[in-house]
Amino acid sequence: DEEEDYGERFAVNGRATLLGSETKAQKFQGLQEQRRQLPIAKGREALIREVRENDTVVLVGETGSGKTTQVPQYLLEADISSSGQIGVTQPRRVAATSLASRVADEQGVALGSRVGYAVRFNERHGPGTKIKYLTDGMLFRELLADPLLSRYSVIIIDEAHERTLNTDVLLANLKRIQKERKERATENLTNSAKGKERAREDKLPLKLIIMSATLDAEKFSRFFNNTKILYVKGRQHPVEIFHTIRSQPDYADATVRTFFQIHLDYEPGDVLIFLAGQEDIEAVQESIKTYAKQLPLGQMSVFTCPMYANLPQNMQTQVFKPTSSGVRKCILATNIAETSITIPGVRYVIDTGKHKEKRHYEYTGGGLDSLMTKDISKSSAMQRAGRAGREGPGFCFRLYTESDFRKMESTYLPEILRTNLMSSTLQLKCLGQDISSLDFMDPPDPDSVRAAYLTLRIVGALDKRNEVTQIGRMMNMFPLEPTLSRAFVAAQENGCIYEIIGIVSVLSASANLFIDPPKNREKAREARMAFQDNSGDHLTALKTLRAYEEIVTSGKSKSARRAWCEQHYVNERALSEAIDIQKQLRGICEREKLDWNASAGNAIEPVLRSLLVGLVQNTAIYREETNAYRQITSNSAMKIQIHPSSVLSGRTPRVIMYDEPIFTSKIYARGVSTIPPAMLSMLPAFQPTKEQTKK
Ligand code: ADP
Ligand code: MG
Repeated sequence: DEEEDYGERFAVNGRATLLGSETKAQKFQGLQEQRRQLPIAKGREALIREVRENDTVVLVGETGSGKTTQVPQYLLEADISSSGQIGVTQPRRVAATSLASRVADEQGVALGSRVGYAVRFNERHGPGTKIKYLTDGMLFRELLADPLLSRYSVIIIDEAHERTLNTDVLLANLKRIQKERKERATENLTNSAKGKERAREDKLPLKLIIMSATLDAEKFSRFFNNTKILYVKGRQHPVEIFHTIRSQPDYADATVRTFFQIHLDYEPGDVLIFLAGQEDIEAVQESIKTYAKQLPLGQMSVFTCPMYANLPQNMQTQVFKPTSSGVRKCILATNIAETSITIPGVRYVIDTGKHKEKRHYEYTGGGLDSLMTKDISKSSAMQRAGRAGREGPGFCFRLYTESDFRKMESTYLPEILRTNLMSSTLQLKCLGQDISSLDFMDPPDPDSVRAAYLTLRIVGALDKRNEVTQIGRMMNMFPLEPTLSRAFVAAQENGCIYEIIGIVSVLSASANLFIDPPKNREKAREARMAFQDNSGDHLTALKTLRAYEEIVTSGKSKSARRAWCEQHYVNERALSEAIDIQKQLRGICEREKLDWNASAGNAIEPVLRSLLVGLVQNTAIYREETNAYRQITSNSAMKIQIHPSSVLSGRTPRVIMYDEPIFTSKIYARGVSTIPPAMLSMLPAFQPTKEQTKK
């Protein structure tokens, strides 16, 4: 019955023949040949000429045409960058690192030499680096030390159509920098011969290239005084699109079934599946692997590989490896594979129509950040389908109905209009800029700006006149969420940097430390008893990290470490990432002459107090009437529960602080610690009412 329904949903009207797979010679010559074949290669000379003649150009081109990998190399080879660097921004870490690795291969050099990258907590570049791929967030941070970005002669803002908050803040700043550097250049040139010399050294002026995969380029052009738009024609083969007849509430299940229908009924060719996020990817990957093992003999085998923003580096290269015959590759990706990363060999796309969207909600006295699974936009849906037709005609299976497609928004709202502005507001303040008066493509909502200022004043990063304080400057030194960097600054006073660095590192890792199997929660909890701290999740996380560090330093084998992690239901990747981050943060301390070894010993009070200063907005008090918690700093009557994964679950301490609220059927606090009610009164910025502190 299921099967029949299934066949009916995807009626196939015809099949295309498979094109011969591309030569994938690993050798340098092979790579050069590949470079010459890219659609953008034909436009090389024209592009170089336009960039020479114009300070800013907008470049639009089909995904896979070669923009990101080739343009920086063309400019380098044509010596347009002269003595300066070429910086290429990416919205996501994994794109920055994997593209850098590819371009290093194409240049025939080791990664980190002529071609390098910089992403948060991970950098590989040196004095000889000419082309640097970096996240837009990293370039924004570089402004702090180098307000004119003087080491760069060319900046390429890639994936501009995504309109991330960092991209928008950068665009506003780059417009100013370009103007200032130009003024300096002319000054120098008219002043003296020596000035001319200096102008060269300063890499003046700055060339800017805005690259986008979608045709919304006019807006960028208008923002840069109607600058020239160049188009690269890509290769796009026809893609046959199928919609489901009915909506699919369980899209994970529908994905697995669709994959196996393709696998059993369709010709060879790899399958690219678009899912919302890492958790979906891991779940679907597990199911596909399990069913693939049960396939009858003689069937093509299945090779699955994931692709998402925080994928560890050693797992990135496998998606680009050509598939051998008899194997069907199944790539499970987030919207990163829409335009940022082109994966060869894909002939089938399964589009769940979902993605994760960051949103910030304001209410009186506070705000909530959420990362929720949402419907994609029409423009995303088109990009996703397009990925099936890069090398030949392809198929796209949409797990939503045609009328659902028509109901989708045409594009996404720029991030600046829907996210928390706290971090950017502080960073801009440290640059002497005001988020409310910067020249943006789309100015932020005044209410969100006001809320960001308020929160920054509450944590003491800004003073009454919204000027940045010493605390604010110290917070900004660390590439952390403001709540965490504030805890860090407090830890300096409280003599517990050692402990807070550990906790902050765990919280900054991309995966949750504790594996939370909903069906096995009791077992997981028992297994973790050894590290459990009665105060809650923060110190429990710290104890876990320390236990793992001991295992690592004791020289236990890799498999022993893995077994230890499995046994204790902790995520090894999160732990090793945390150790990395901890090392980086200690490095920053050394640079800033702070003693990262300053420890509170066995005292936990200073640690909780430091965390509380940062998490002041995420504090809640227990209400017997509702058997739930209520936020202290807001007037909202929102009922909050302790998340079942917390070590405090099942208990009702009077006051709690937590890392984040999450929405499911209820509002849960995740990452919870209990604090003594009296501690609230220690907060300079927060004086609770009598009622709130009484026992
Ligand atoms: P665009 O930016 O226009 O979308 P890219 O420059 O990213 O195009 O990609 C050009 C080509 O390089 C694509 O065919 C892609 O498959 C290939 N490519 C990019 N990165 C890698 C990699 N890490 N390994 C193998 N091929 C890659
Ligand atoms: Mg690109």
